[in-house]
Amino acid sequence: MSAREVESIFAEIVERARASDPTNARRWFDELRVVRFDGGSIGIGCPDEASVRFLDQNCRANFTRIAQQITGHLVTVDFLISTGDPRRPIEAMLPGPALHADYTFDNFVVGPSNRLAHASCVAVSQSLGATYNPLFLYGNAGLGKTHLLHAVCHEIRHRSGMASIQLLSCEEFVNRFIRAIEQGNISSFHSQFRTVDALVIDDIQFLREREQSQEEFFHTFNAIYNNGRQIILSADSPPAEIPSLEDRLVSRFNWGLVARIDPPSYETRVAIVQKKAHLRGLQVTDEISEYIAKQVQANIRELEGALTTIYALATTTHEPVTIELAQRALEGQIRLATRHISVMDIIEVVAKHFDVRLTDLQSKRRSQSITVPRQICMYLARLLTKHSLEEIGGHLGGRDHTTVMHACAKIDEEKQSDPKMQALLAELTKQITQTFLI
Ligand code: ADP
Ligand code: MG
Repeated sequence: MSAREVESIFAEIVERARASDPTNARRWFDELRVVRFDGGSIGIGCPDEASVRFLDQNCRANFTRIAQQITGHLVTVDFLISTGDPRRPIEAMLPGPALHADYTFDNFVVGPSNRLAHASCVAVSQSLGATYNPLFLYGNAGLGKTHLLHAVCHEIRHRSGMASIQLLSCEEFVNRFIRAIEQGNISSFHSQFRTVDALVIDDIQFLREREQSQEEFFHTFNAIYNNGRQIILSADSPPAEIPSLEDRLVSRFNWGLVARIDPPSYETRVAIVQKKAHLRGLQVTDEISEYIAKQVQANIRELEGALTTIYALATTTHEPVTIELAQRALEGQIRLATRHISVMDIIEVVAKHFDVRLTDLQSKRRSQSITVPRQICMYLARLLTKHSLEEIGGHLGGRDHTTVMHACAKIDEEKQSDPKMQALLAELTKQITQTFLI
């Protein structure tokens, strides 16, 4: 079917849906686009989340009925937020899933932590069903599982425009299954999933405690496997550690290759920051990428977030991206995450650490044993709260703003010259922020 035919069918569906249910017809229906049309289901791109919800709640049955009448097939209808460029030719979206344009093998940085996962994904995409089947990737959040799954699909599509691929989250699989039961068209559900060349399901741990879906997935798995087609799965833990997953699924998931993804090493993190910056056309010096890689260690999504924050700050303040600006931006991030911290929260943690009384910190006493903890309170209050210098001084024995400023500068200086002070501040910040992270 040509793109023009798809578009004219879709226009007719929308027109009839409007006419047959005028109460729920909306002007913004003009903005609906077809983003997927693969025989089994029609993906309708909507302008935003609110419109997706509206359509889901009020229009699904009507749209489905009309789509089935017009196409003559038992198609299902999915409403999605349309992120694509509406001018993009529809051929580019046919057939199969909408892939994230950036999630390709080219844009994936390979290091010791993900080498096996990456190599097995490449191997599988080059000969479906012939190497590792199933391929099972697991690792913590933000380590690149979804990226690799999309990269496999890009590669399959690149090699053969005809290959049929289903790529979806496990949650979507479960929802579509439930909907198929509700609407009594389970056979179209079967034909959508059991006949594909590659079934790629992200976050399969979502199957836990969903007995009926596990049963269905078991049969889906067998059908695809027995046809010699490819199955690729991702999860946050290895098969045997997914709670309440049926043994027969655990054993099947172990039939092929199970590849773990670990947190990236420092060198890999630096390379990832550079790759992401390059993708966005940002200039980053080695110093900045190394700084970010040192600050953010466990999660690549946060690594990207740090880069975004730094450039957002540079853009809004029209400042060049320097280390000093990067530091300010990332400290600002702490502040965002911890906006409920009060000066009292800080005083409590510091008092406990130095084993001094709260009232002493808040008094006018000037002995050395009190002065240093009090200055640290001021420094941290400046960093972690939005209070003014006066307000901070007010909480700490009624000092004026120059005293607070002086204290902050002094502690900052010590932090630069004394690793012990640096570690202490990091530890206190951790204690203070951890308790109040939202
Ligand atoms: P997961 O699915 O494991 O939670 P994602 O695939 O969503 O993680 O990855 C989070 C972000 O990190 C994505 O933007 C992805 O592009 C990026 N990312 C992860 N690993 C790499 C890598 N090795 N090279 C480049 N980008 C990566
Ligand atoms: Mg993911």
